Amino acid sequence: MNKRPFYITTTLPYVNAEPHIGHALEFVRADVIARHKKLLGFDVFFNTGTDEHGIKIYQKAAESHMDPQKYVDQISMKFREMIPLLGVMSEINFIRTTDPHHIKAAQEFWNIAKKNGLIYKKNYAIKYCVGCELEKTESELVDGRCPLHPLQDIETIEEENYFFRFSLYQKPLMDLYERDSSASSNAENNASFVIPNTRLNEIRAFVERGIEDFSISRLASKMPWGIPVPDDKDQVMYVWFDALVNYISAIGWPRDQASFKKWWADTGGVVQYCGKDNLRQQSAMWQAMLMSVGLPPSKVIVINGFVTGEGGIKMSKSLGNTVNPLDIVSEYGTDAFRYFVTKEIHPFEDSPFTIPKFKETYNAGLANGLGNLTSRIMKMSEANISKTDIKTAVSYDKLADKDYFDAIDAFNLQKAMNVIWQKIAILDQKIQKEQPFVLVKTDKENGKKLIIDLVNSLSEIATFLLPLLPETAEKILACINENKMPDKPLFLRK
Ligand SMILES: [Zn+2]
Repeated sequence: MNKRPFYITTTLPYVNAEPHIGHALEFVRADVIARHKKLLGFDVFFNTGTDEHGIKIYQKAAESHMDPQKYVDQISMKFREMIPLLGVMSEINFIRTTDPHHIKAAQEFWNIAKKNGLIYKKNYAIKYCVGCELEKTESELVDGRCPLHPLQDIETIEEENYFFRFSLYQKPLMDLYERDSSASSNAENNASFVIPNTRLNEIRAFVERGIEDFSISRLASKMPWGIPVPDDKDQVMYVWFDALVNYISAIGWPRDQASFKKWWADTGGVVQYCGKDNLRQQSAMWQAMLMSVGLPPSKVIVINGFVTGEGGIKMSKSLGNTVNPLDIVSEYGTDAFRYFVTKEIHPFEDSPFTIPKFKETYNAGLANGLGNLTSRIMKMSEANISKTDIKTAVSYDKLADKDYFDAIDAFNLQKAMNVIWQKIAILDQKIQKEQPFVLVKTDKENGKKLIIDLVNSLSEIATFLLPLLPETAEKILACINENKMPDKPLFLRK
C-alpha cells in the first residue's frame, strides 16, 4: 500500500538579517511534527527555505555595497547551514524564492488571478512600513508610526500599481474560519483553521471589520528587486504576493500536477507554521490568493509566539539579551536546545529564553533527569541482566498514550514533553522506593524482574522521544540494545 502523504512547511525566513532564535524554534517545532508523522508511517514533505525579494533586501544589499543576488545567496546559505545543526531531518525541501521554478510559478499564479479578474491597475497613495513590508492604514499607526517599528519612518508611496481584489474575499474567509470542526472525527482534520484559538479570533475580527484591496506590485524603476510582472516590464511583484506562492511551487505547482495533487489536494493542504506577525499574511491574504486561482485552502495555520528576553522584553542586540541558537547547540548539544524550545517555551504565546533559565532546566530535566535516569538503569541492567531478557523496543506507531498523541495532534509540544517527563518522574520514584540495586542482592529473581521492568519503561520513554530529541532517543535505544551503560553521561552537568 502507498504511504499516506503529509505536507508541512515553515515560513520562509526573510533574508534581511541573520538567523535568530525565532527561526530556530520554528524549524525545530515543524521538524518534531514531520518526524512524528514519518514515524507513524506517513510519506512526509517538509518544506522550508528563504524569502529573498523586496525593498528591505534591496536596501540592505545597497548598504553593504553588494549585488542583491550575491547578498541573498550569502544569507540564504546561513539558514541552510543552520538547519542540520538543529537536528532537523535530512529529507527537507529547501526552496529559495529566487529559484527559477518558483519565479515561473509566481508569474503563472499572477496570470491566472488576472485572467479571473482579480488583479487590476490603479493610481494611489499609501502609507507603508518598510519594517513590516506592509501597507498601514491610519488606524494601525500610533503617532504616525508603526507600533512594531517605531524607529522607522512611515513612507508615503504614490504610484500606479496593480491591486488584488482582496475585498471580495471577506465572506469566503469568514466561512473558512467557521469551518465546522465537529463534522469530522479524524483528529488531524478536527482542528480549527488557525491554532491557537486566540489567533483564530484575532484574524476573524480583522476580516470581519472589512478588508481592502491591496497593491501587489512596485515600480521597477524604484525597486527592481522583485519578480517581473508578466507582460509589464515597468512593474515587479510585491514580495508577499511572490513569496506566499512558494507553498505550492515547492510541491511542483503548476508544472507537475501529479505532485501537486499528491501533496496538496490529497492531504487537504499544507500544515503551515508561522510567527504571530505573519497571521494576516498566511491566514487571510494567502488563503484569498489561493481562492483567486481556484485552489483549495491550506489545511491549518499554527501560530508561534515570539521568543523574548527576561520579563517579556523584546530581544535586541542593543539590549544584549539575544541568544544565538548555535552558541547553545555548540555548548550544550542539539537536543538540549530542542528540549528547551519544546518543553520550556510556551507552544503559542510569547515566552522568554534566558541563559540562567536554560541552564537551570538543562540541569534539572536533562543532566539530573533523563541523563541520570538512563545511567542508573543501564548500570543496574549491565551488571545484573542478560541482553536476552530485554524486550525489543515497541515501535513508535505502536505506543499507546492518548494524552501524548492528543497533545501532538494539537501542536502542543510542551504538553507532549510534560507527559514524557511525568513518566521519567515516575521511574525515578520507583527506583527510589523499590531500591532494585538492594533488592537484587537479597532477592535476585524479583530484583532482576524489577530491573527488566525499568529497562522496558526507559525503552518506551526513548521511543516517545524519537521525534522530539532524536539523537538522545537513538543513543538510549542503542544502550538498551547493547545492554550497556552510556560511555559518557548523555548530558554533562553545567
Ligand atoms: Zn512595521
